Amino acid sequence: MITENLKIVEQKIQEACDRAGRDRNDVTLIAVSKTKPIECLKEAYDQGIRNFGENKVQELTGKIEEMPTDIKWHMIGHLQRNKVKYIAGKTELIHSVDSYRLAEEINIQAKKRGIVIPVLIEVNVAGEESKFGVSLDHAEQLIDEVASLDGITVKGLMTIAPYVEDPEENRPLFQALKNLSVDIAAKNKDNVTMDVLSMGMTNDYQVAIEEGATLVRVGTGIFGERNYNKQ
Ligand SMILES: *Cc1c(COP(=O)(O)O)cnc(C)c1O
Repeated sequence: MITENLKIVEQKIQEACDRAGRDRNDVTLIAVSKTKPIECLKEAYDQGIRNFGENKVQELTGKIEEMPTDIKWHMIGHLQRNKVKYIAGKTELIHSVDSYRLAEEINIQAKKRGIVIPVLIEVNVAGEESKFGVSLDHAEQLIDEVASLDGITVKGLMTIAPYVEDPEENRPLFQALKNLSVDIAAKNKDNVTMDVLSMGMTNDYQVAIEEGATLVRVGTGIFGERNYNKQ
């Protein structure tokens, strides 16, 4: 099933790139494997997937141990400060920096290891109360604060759009995030690039690609429904 699903997802990514006049190589598919067993990740790996996303620290570190070393791991979930030490240096990108206090802890752990940790700033574009992320209005201030820490480098922005029946409803949110990234990039801030735009999930990744996503995070569309009771 995973192999067939990946073919479908790949085709849909290509179609969205074609519609938007974008190069397929400018979009990276992150397979979101949370709650899924290692066999599932291995099947995706065998199909050429090298970017995986997880949202829980313990599950992430466990899977890192069990999977090949050429994988790029993405921390996409809300991150607690006391858990940063377990993943520092192990991830390609932390997508979910939404406070200066969290960034400070990432900075401390980076300096301990003599590394610089790449992050995205998570923006709650829709302003949903249930979601993490800095508001659009406060995003630039947070970017400036985070960029002042030299154990961190800001690579771009991430958002989790609401679940909607019609993905077209999320298009304005993706446009808003893209606009913010263009505005910030134009200011040429030290220690900030806006090369990465992490947006789009199973339900809306094609729309996100049309609006400029460089990373799409697809779980259900690759691995099928998640069963949270059976973990
Ligand atoms: C679970 C999750 C995804 C994947 O969601 P699907 O709808 O299954 O594709 C993407 N991003 C984040 C942050 C997630 O937690």
